[in-house]
Amino acid sequence: MQYEQRFLQHYFAHRACPSCQKTQRPEALFVLAQRQHTRVVMVTCGGCHHRRIFVVSLPASSATTISQHDVRAMHSFLDTFNGDFSGLFGFNSDGGSPLAAD
Ligand SMILES: [Zn+2]
Repeated sequence: MQYEQRFLQHYFAHRACPSCQKTQRPEALFVLAQRQHTRVVMVTCGGCHHRRIFVVSLPASSATTISQHDVRAMHSFLDTFNGDFSGLFGFNSDGGSPLAAD
């Protein structure tokens, strides 16, 4: 929930208020309704005190923890990677997939 509140504060703090055109510093921010990744939010502009209701889509949470093992594995991979992305992702030098039947 803290992540969501911080996201919404940041989201509105970087947008101009439709009433006063100044960068909003929300004086109040309330989530009125929520469904999956969508929120209905009432925001009070810290500059002109107008209240507006917005519908905001939250980004899917991509917060993952990277372990020391992950860092070591990437370090080992990069030590030996020759830069051949086509080969890495399974494409032949002619752009075709090696799995494609002739
Ligand atoms: Zn305003």
